[in-house]
Amino acid sequence: MPIRMCAVCRNRMEKRELYRIVETEGEIRLDKDGKAQCRGLYVCADCLPLAEKKRVLERAFRRKVSRDIYLKILTDAGA
Ligand SMILES: [Zn+2]
Repeated sequence: MPIRMCAVCRNRMEKRELYRIVETEGEIRLDKDGKAQCRGLYVCADCLPLAEKKRVLERAFRRKVSRDIYLKILTDAGA
């Protein structure tokens, strides 16, 4: 099983335990099946609710990220 790092807490864990967030065609979204061929990052379930406070997506994608995007990701993750 591939190991990936959570972008927030930097813990390494199995890929299937992490949520993948990607930017495709200017849209930042949850990559549910993990198959999107584009830039992305991983966040663990514990850190997903902290992602907005930590401005994780801003740092990763170097752009402004609205509150709505964070909320949509949380909703899609079922968190
Ligand atoms: Zn984490």
